[in-house]
Amino acid sequence: MNMTSSVRIKSGCSDAPILKERGQNEVFCGLTGIIWLHRKMQDAFFLVVGSRTCAHLLQSAAGVMIFAEPRFGTAILEEKDLAGMADAQEELNSQVEKLLDRRPEIKQLFLVGSCPSEVIKLDLSRAAERLTLKYAPKVRVLSYSGSGIETTFTQGEDACLASMVRTLERTENPDLILVGALPDIVEDQFLCILKQLGIKNVTTFPSKTKDSAPRIGENVKFVLCQPFLGDTREALQDRGAIHIAAPFPFGEEGTTLWLKAIANEYDVDLSLFEKVTEAPRNRAKKALEGISNKLSGKSVFFFPDSQLEIPLARFLVRECGMNALEVGSPYINKKIVMPDLEMLPNGPVISEGQDVDSQLDRCRKAKPDLTICGMGLANPLEAEGMATKWSIELVFSPVHGYEQAGDLAGLFYRPIKRRELLKV
Ligand code: SF4
Repeated sequence: MNMTSSVRIKSGCSDAPILKERGQNEVFCGLTGIIWLHRKMQDAFFLVVGSRTCAHLLQSAAGVMIFAEPRFGTAILEEKDLAGMADAQEELNSQVEKLLDRRPEIKQLFLVGSCPSEVIKLDLSRAAERLTLKYAPKVRVLSYSGSGIETTFTQGEDACLASMVRTLERTENPDLILVGALPDIVEDQFLCILKQLGIKNVTTFPSKTKDSAPRIGENVKFVLCQPFLGDTREALQDRGAIHIAAPFPFGEEGTTLWLKAIANEYDVDLSLFEKVTEAPRNRAKKALEGISNKLSGKSVFFFPDSQLEIPLARFLVRECGMNALEVGSPYINKKIVMPDLEMLPNGPVISEGQDVDSQLDRCRKAKPDLTICGMGLANPLEAEGMATKWSIELVFSPVHGYEQAGDLAGLFYRPIKRRELLKV
């Protein structure tokens, strides 16, 4: 089986014109990434330096944990702190000291910047360096921005991972790094398949603990698990690692091609690849059969929110038979999504950025069967009679890989089914 040539559709959407919009946009802020990152990184703590709004966002997004001590919090800098930067730095020092005294299990502390203009003026990277000197080697302090002014909600993870790259130790070994926080169950499935393929020394980034972090060097290769990791990709390349470009592992086809791209780099025998992937591929195809006939022929419209839009559109069109009308993404980094763009059949409007009012007009005119959008747009569109899916759910749910292919398609079918039931 020739995996690559069998799936290419001439150039698909790789050369399609991109409608670039720079108007008002509706996005969630980068602090959101803390919700899934703190679960993944078990010795990390995320200290948001922000306002009460940031604290409310985290509490409502993560649920208030009354009985368990969460591994994130907000250092709310009051106006008097912000009036004098020296006061603010002292306040931050004292909050960090109290936190680390009380929580000796913390090994990595992230100072996370936010929107308020006074917080932006604080030099959190200098504060992180100063605090690292004080608490090293037990605790490493890093900083990144989760501000909602210039980021979308998935970019918080990108900024967090990029901040860690310079701390990775060097190696000469040909290790493989899977980059992007995946639910443990999905990560274990991928590690198991890669092991069966005979690929050794596979690590994940972020790792569960500071001490199990991947190592980096010119012989290291990495593959992205999420399409929103542009800064992380560049930081890894700056340290010599080689990016394995591939379609993202959504659905049976996407997962096979993602694994195949890795297998090619490590000279895995084709017959071994076939043998190892045959059973999970068949399970994924079977799971998709049950749901794709319900999605087939339905139309879908993506508002830009997560940067997952292009790979997901490829999955919905090619594996579920849907018709993509518009595929909007906050940013289109062709170095990352080109393999998916090449496979997305010609037809949809490909848009980058947002001018929300004109995009809403296009959506209403197109009357899609399903609209994928942020939470802020979903309720008004539902009120107008449209079926919507929150794009944030696709980041919180296990959706990658063979075993999740059916669930992924199911996530898109549910709102359509609900809307059909409401019509009866
Ligand atoms: S970082 Fe900005 S957008 Fe996000 S919760 Fe704080 S104030 Fe709001």
